[in-house]
Amino acid sequence: MQLTKSLLHTTDAYIKRLHEAGIETISDLLGYFPRDIEDKSDVCERFSEVSIKEKQVIKCKIELLTSETTRNKKLLIKAVIVDLDGSYAEAIWFNRKFLLQQFASGDTVMIYGMAKYEYGKLSFPSCEIEHLKAGRREIVPVYSDLNYIPGTWIREKIVLLRSYLAWTFSDIVPLEIRNKHGFRSRSENIASVHFPASLEDFERSRTELGYEELFQFQKRWLEKKYALERDSLGLAPELTIDVELMKSLIASLPFPLTSKQKIVLFQILKDMERPHAMARMLQGDVGTGKTVVALLASVHSILVSRNKNPEQIGVQVAIMAPTEILARQHFSGQEAWLMQWGISSDLLVGSLTPRMKEDARSRLASGQTDIIFGTHALIQDSVSFARLGFVVVDEQHRFGVEQRKTLEEYCSHSVIIPHRLNMSATPIPRSLAMTLYGDQDISVLDEYPAGRLPIHTRVVKEEKRWEVYRWVDEEVKSGRQVYWISPLVEESDTLDIASATNMQEILSGIFPHLTIGLIHGKMTGKEKDRIMQEFYENKIHILSSTSVVEVGVNNPNATVMCIEAAERFGLSQLHQFRGRVGRGNSQSYCYLFTTKEYKTDRLKAMEETNDGFELAQIDLDLRGPGEVYGVRQSGVPDMHFADLRDTDLIADIRWDIEEWMQWKK
Ligand code: ADP
Ligand code: MG
Repeated sequence: MQLTKSLLHTTDAYIKRLHEAGIETISDLLGYFPRDIEDKSDVCERFSEVSIKEKQVIKCKIELLTSETTRNKKLLIKAVIVDLDGSYAEAIWFNRKFLLQQFASGDTVMIYGMAKYEYGKLSFPSCEIEHLKAGRREIVPVYSDLNYIPGTWIREKIVLLRSYLAWTFSDIVPLEIRNKHGFRSRSENIASVHFPASLEDFERSRTELGYEELFQFQKRWLEKKYALERDSLGLAPELTIDVELMKSLIASLPFPLTSKQKIVLFQILKDMERPHAMARMLQGDVGTGKTVVALLASVHSILVSRNKNPEQIGVQVAIMAPTEILARQHFSGQEAWLMQWGISSDLLVGSLTPRMKEDARSRLASGQTDIIFGTHALIQDSVSFARLGFVVVDEQHRFGVEQRKTLEEYCSHSVIIPHRLNMSATPIPRSLAMTLYGDQDISVLDEYPAGRLPIHTRVVKEEKRWEVYRWVDEEVKSGRQVYWISPLVEESDTLDIASATNMQEILSGIFPHLTIGLIHGKMTGKEKDRIMQEFYENKIHILSSTSVVEVGVNNPNATVMCIEAAERFGLSQLHQFRGRVGRGNSQSYCYLFTTKEYKTDRLKAMEETNDGFELAQIDLDLRGPGEVYGVRQSGVPDMHFADLRDTDLIADIRWDIEEWMQWKK
């Protein structure tokens, strides 16, 4: 039912503002939940008992109500108020003319607000005030302002809609699950979130509505997951694990696998044994050895399928990277090892000549190529595979929404449905991973291969800055290179952040004998490529960069990362910057500068750990889901009551849904 002027006793202007905010019907408005609650059940009747530490309700009488215009043309209203004992205090408001019409000397009132003790007297600045009346609400919901509509207005109007609460909402959580947990109906919960009988009542509805939010989100993911299982049943390559083969593959690597790599590899192989397509997300910091795991699984799948069906060609594998540079790196690094196992590999990227592309495509179509490395160009219509059985997407989070959709379509329309492995180098906490990748199983690599040097990280006090400069000079002298990150491109007067352009000049002044490069988001792709190439060739010693630039090149010769105004970044983002160094065999360093008076407690975590998952968890706890690096782009759901940090609850809900889906079958 539509909201109307007469229903809400309001004006067109307000109805319009509500519409603009997406609130058109009664249930829309009732679905606008309070952000908090105020407990006004405790009424204080003596000023001597008033606390100045929290808001309180006080019953008192207006002795005198006056108004005056201040020098800067504001209307100042003053009330002298008196309590049970006859003690006096004062309440003041600015620009609230209507109070003069609604209240008068002699009225007994309830005020609600924070008291101040000043110049020997108690005063209540800008407190709420109402007449003493029966049916006063004691537990009062607090609504956020909405599109310039005050939260208090919303509170009044929701009271007018109270009678509609009984029939407006159908349930989201199925009865079986509600019974299992003793949950109330959605309507009951919504009623008591707007009109709580007690604090406990409010908390209860908040918990149950929070469950519901997560439930709804996860259910969609699980439905998607089950749909893939159903639709790919019998159509995905069923690949039995060949333990001996796997052992020899691993033995042919120049290093032993870490135990985490073994676990993850086993999870992947297990998935591929099943009669439906795998959908798995592998998360792990740069350098934890994801690529190796994906390649082992690839070669295994090709060789096993060849053995299984000697008259048919084996499955083909597509390994997709978000950039050409990455795709080329993968291809050239692996070719030799793959050859050793009789696996042919090829590269397909945009910059090849038309002739080369054509050749690559025909080798794919005929089944000559076993593994193809490339960008999303791999899944365009002009490309056809003889028998695509496994798709690996590296740095999955860097592909756009459209590209992911294309990939999905491509996979679901193939004759055989390929197994899918997504990989991501931005570690996020488990609770968020379950929420954001709920249609996939999740594997985690949180262990680095032995011998990797942790990056030496320090938060630098301003007075020690010159020591870092000296160290940078040393490193460059011994042939190393440096990144220097600053938060903004253009100089801003109001914020004392060094801009990248400005920083380039400053650094040129400090290191006149070095070449300082500049890279920022407003450059064209060509310009950026040129700068990165020069940096790669060591023609640039120090690269001054803004934070918006994804510093795409893997330059193993860069060993120092300096970050200005580091406190403005989340820890997980700082960790991503830090991941740009430490890619070679030499000890690398990360220095975090802060603006003047900043307390460095949070940043200290960077000194203490090199574990991206741990840092992301701290961001989640301290700053919320949107501040965890890489999460905003993945589309964190807007949750009102649910706590996205609650890993156990999220896992339990997932379990509830799976159990319920089984039961329903
Ligand atoms: P990621 O893809 O997770 O960034 P890679 O698979 O590219 O990591 O591995 C990073 C580097 O570490 C590569 O040079 C790789 O050969 C090497 N590497 C991978 N696994 C191990 C291991 N278990 N022991 C030693 N080196 C390893
Ligand atoms: Mg990789």
